[in-house]
Amino acid sequence: MLYTIDVLIDKIKASDKQYDIDKIVAAYEVADEAHSDTKRSSGEPYITHPIAVACILLEFCMDTDTLVAALLHDVVEDTDISLETLRKKFGEDVANLVDGVTKIGQVPLNTKEEQQAENIRKILMAMSKDIRVIIIKLADRLHNMRTIMYRPPEKQRKKALETMNFYAPIAHRLGMSAVKEEMEDISIKILDPYGTRAVEDMLDTHKEQRDTFIDTITGRIRERISDIEPPPVIEGRVKSVYSIYKKVYIKGKSFDEIYDVYAVRVIVQSVIECYNVLGIIHDMFKPIPYRFKDYIATPKPNRYQSLHTTVIGREGIPFEVQIRTVEMHNTAQYGVAAHWKYKAGLTGKVAGEQRFDWIRQILDQQQEGDDVEQIADAIKVDLAPDEVYVFTPKGDVIVLPLGSTVIDFAYAIHTQVGHKMTGAKVSGRMIRFDYQLRTGDIVEVMTTQSQTYGPNRNWLEIAKTSEARGKIRAWFKKECREENIAEGMAALEGEFHRASIIPTPEFLNEIAVAQKFSSVDDFYAAIGYGGVKLSKIMQRVKDMYANRMAAANPVSVDGNEALKNTIARKQKSGVIVEGIDNCLIKFAKCCNPLPGDKIVGFITRGYGVSVHKQDCTNVVNASPQDKERWIHVMWAASGQTEYYNATIDIISENMTALADVTSTIASSRFVISNISAHPLKNGNGNIVVTVEVASVEQLNALIQRIQKINGVISAERTGIL
Ligand code: MN
Repeated sequence: MLYTIDVLIDKIKASDKQYDIDKIVAAYEVADEAHSDTKRSSGEPYITHPIAVACILLEFCMDTDTLVAALLHDVVEDTDISLETLRKKFGEDVANLVDGVTKIGQVPLNTKEEQQAENIRKILMAMSKDIRVIIIKLADRLHNMRTIMYRPPEKQRKKALETMNFYAPIAHRLGMSAVKEEMEDISIKILDPYGTRAVEDMLDTHKEQRDTFIDTITGRIRERISDIEPPPVIEGRVKSVYSIYKKVYIKGKSFDEIYDVYAVRVIVQSVIECYNVLGIIHDMFKPIPYRFKDYIATPKPNRYQSLHTTVIGREGIPFEVQIRTVEMHNTAQYGVAAHWKYKAGLTGKVAGEQRFDWIRQILDQQQEGDDVEQIADAIKVDLAPDEVYVFTPKGDVIVLPLGSTVIDFAYAIHTQVGHKMTGAKVSGRMIRFDYQLRTGDIVEVMTTQSQTYGPNRNWLEIAKTSEARGKIRAWFKKECREENIAEGMAALEGEFHRASIIPTPEFLNEIAVAQKFSSVDDFYAAIGYGGVKLSKIMQRVKDMYANRMAAANPVSVDGNEALKNTIARKQKSGVIVEGIDNCLIKFAKCCNPLPGDKIVGFITRGYGVSVHKQDCTNVVNASPQDKERWIHVMWAASGQTEYYNATIDIISENMTALADVTSTIASSRFVISNISAHPLKNGNGNIVVTVEVASVEQLNALIQRIQKINGVISAERTGIL
């Protein structure tokens, strides 16, 4: 039929929904003039296409703006009319719909199988800012497929592949099975004409018998359920060509094995009637085991609901029966679009998979009685509000945080693409680096081939993602390496001079390794760009130098050997061991001795002498056979102050005493090296704190101070736990 504006207007008048006919006619006039003399491959005026698309959308009972956008959907891309003009004449919504449809059309479709699913998912998300965009695009593609025979063969094949791989799955995900099936049936005929012909021939062979069979079955079912009011709708049909094709050629079944060639559909008013009818069907025909599926209790992810069962009639021919309510049927046919078609809410809360939450959201919002515009607005806000989906010219999807710029995009593709970027285009137009990307943008990055390239320092402020900023920073760090090394070396030499250190290459290497660098140059460079602060490491460097010098100058150089030995030992541990020079000293953790404590040494096997307090339980209870290994030790009279860890175990009335304990320790100028606190079952608090002290006198003074704190029950010295 020839689609003219009169056909559309007649259909609008015949529908039971209210439309703004003036706005629709105005859109028609703009489109008609814009497309003027352009013809379709069929030879018909181009305007018949947008009108046909609008007619399809009218069948879905979409709203006025959707029909208006459908009439205008090709003008921005194919004619001189700008989006601005549409915005002024028809409003923001129409302009956005047309823009969205134009953008989907520009997304290059990657037909590589492993990427298909992901692309479909992401593009669905991207375009679902306003779901009407996708619905218009599907209607557009459906009409193009209906008229595909006028295109040259290679175009037919390309479009059929796209439709099969891309648009039909989208229709499926949106639950629009009528659109999906028609798209698949047209496409498979183009992609595999012979295979499709075989299926059709098989179906045709017994066409008369088949029609009689379906009539008989539906007649008998109608008779049995004639007492249901209002009478259910009963349809008998052969399933879609492609669904049979798939079973034969993809699942490898023979025609005889295909149960689902015939399908009978019973459409009733309520869920209870669904289960009633199921019982009646199972009473009339023999059900095939394991073929019953309850999609009412467990809907499919695309929200499809129905009871399915396969039964065998008297003729021995199996057929599938689908039982559903009117609402379920509409959802099955129109999917998401059903919500524009039918205002009544859906019954029953949906259990099962949450994969298509956003579709469910649309459904839920509709239940609340919102009108279409409000629903569309809600979708715009709710879906992926923090992310933008943009495309490479090859059609790969890059997901970036909202507010991202082309700099983020370039670095997301590849570090080198970022470093070499000289400019960028969005949808063919040059843009500034601070342009904020929008969902649907197709971004093309221009790069330089020159050897001298690199990011600009101000990109650090423009980039939104930490990934991009990190890569830019890394570039500056790396590119300025020579400078950094020179600067680091000079700074370190200055410090060495002040500390009278004369570094050897080995010593420099030792420092670099100690600072976890793999080379001295890396170490210099890190000092240069500020990664290592000299003020923080110089004390350690000085200590290392002192140790090195001590090791390089053995103590036996003069006669004062004994004295020097004693001093060396004392500096290490502060303890003199009777009769043994140069032995390893360690303090026992069980009692944690401090200068001022009476101490005793124990010669361990292989770990030197361990020093205990004389009253330590381990000393008191020591085994008699170890008697020989206990030796006298004493604290060396030290010229300089050494600090030792000491642990205090505190019980308090409650946990709030913790703050007073720490502030008391701090105000007494002790360093806390460890602290832990936990409530006891009886409501008291237990605080265990390790502090650095120089002597047992200091520790005792501190303990006394803690014992005076309000709320503290007891404070005792203990071993390190
Ligand atoms: Mn079109």
